[in-house]
Amino acid sequence: MSKAKPHILIAGGGIGGMCVAAALLQRGFEVDVYEQADELREIGAGIQISPNGNRALDSIGAFETLRQLSCKSESKEVRLWNTGKAWKLFDLGPLAVRRYGYPYLTVYRPDLLKSVTDAVMRQNPGAVHLNSKTTGFVEKDGKIHLSLENGQTVVGDALIGCDGVNSTVRRSTANDSPPEYAKMMIWRGVIPLQALPARMQASMAVNWIGPNGHVVHYPLRDGEIMNLAATIEKPEWDEAAWSAEGTKKQCHEDYAGWHDDVHTLIDAAPRLLKWAYLVRKPLPRYSYGRATLLGDACHPTLPFLAQGAVMALEDGVVLARCLEKYGDVFEAFQAYERARLERDNRMVAGATDMISRFHNQDYRDPVKADEFIGREWSGDAVAERYEWLFTYDCDTAPI
Ligand SMILES: Cc1cc2nc3c(=O)[nH]c(=O)nc-3n(C[C@H](O)[C@H](O)[C@H](O)COP(=O)(O)OP(=O)(O)OC[C@H]3O[C@@H](n4cnc5c(N)ncnc54)[C@H](O)[C@@H]3O)c2cc1C
Repeated sequence: MSKAKPHILIAGGGIGGMCVAAALLQRGFEVDVYEQADELREIGAGIQISPNGNRALDSIGAFETLRQLSCKSESKEVRLWNTGKAWKLFDLGPLAVRRYGYPYLTVYRPDLLKSVTDAVMRQNPGAVHLNSKTTGFVEKDGKIHLSLENGQTVVGDALIGCDGVNSTVRRSTANDSPPEYAKMMIWRGVIPLQALPARMQASMAVNWIGPNGHVVHYPLRDGEIMNLAATIEKPEWDEAAWSAEGTKKQCHEDYAGWHDDVHTLIDAAPRLLKWAYLVRKPLPRYSYGRATLLGDACHPTLPFLAQGAVMALEDGVVLARCLEKYGDVFEAFQAYERARLERDNRMVAGATDMISRFHNQDYRDPVKADEFIGREWSGDAVAERYEWLFTYDCDTAPI
């Protein structure tokens, strides 16, 4: 008689939590997701999903719907903060598909969360529990006893902490130092395309790079809206929460001296939110007995390679494959950690390394900027930074 599959509890119903839930349900596991919020929601902003992330979405049956909702921006360019001089970066269209098997999509975050959630709901609509904030857990008699803020305790065979950068599961396991402000923040807004001059409506992703900040914009939702994400270095964060409403005036001041196009984008944004970037030290391990971590809970990152959510998706598929292959929770969690930890940490280090390419004092001098951009943003340099990420196949990677 074959052994019953372990019952898996998941803390956190974000992109990572939903992906691993969908991948486990596909493999016949009993799964329960406990999400603190009273509804499943994502900030109304954009996110870039590279080919390796789309491969993971396809693995859980969430790619096709998302592709139809996403934007077919065809290429990416770098522009210098003050002169606006442009350099073509890489092709996001047919070339990405030919080379990596999947496109590079620019996606509206709520659409992404909905498509991974639908992949769970189609299989078991009762698997997701809202208003269910995890407060901690104990491992007792070969079971996980997960405590919820609403007074309930739920019991399962294993726990996956997908509860983001401030993870409670991480606090109960790794118990390391809390997240820290990265001395950088981001302005986020979504702009109706019609509010921009025609010359700025092109279906293209643009990275403006400057001495102390950078500005990224790309179209979403088949070109209906333009996502604006503007990072600026700030030694102190003086808001009470890690995100807050901001004003156009403050945002214009942060980009004083930048090209008019940047100020046009700021002016066209109906609303601007500011967010602090948080970072944590890399973990030497993810798994502790019957509990493990996934996504931002174990490897939060600066978003400068646009890979945080993509890694959470890859983690989800690989972890489900490990549980299916090994059956035993301990063996599966060790195999998952072996398969993922080095890649995740390499991505986080690579994203940190990008700071000096996005923000550099050489950009103040057009001659030095030319030289630096020619070297650091050349086709070969960019390919070297992304090739190992984009070519990964979470369905066949060794486990
Ligand atoms: C400005 C910015 C731009 C980015 N751009 C990109 C990009 O282009 N591409 C990319 O791949 N990544 C990007 N990222 C990173 C990406 O957003 C994250 O890596 C991703 O959201 C992580 O998913 P997650 O499911 O691990 O965590 P989260 O998305 O944080 O989800 C955690 C979930 O857990 C819930 N939760 C938290 N605590 C509890 C608790 N105690 N009990 C129950 N539920 C709980 C939360 O409510 C939430 O639903 C960006 C990030 C930022 C900040």
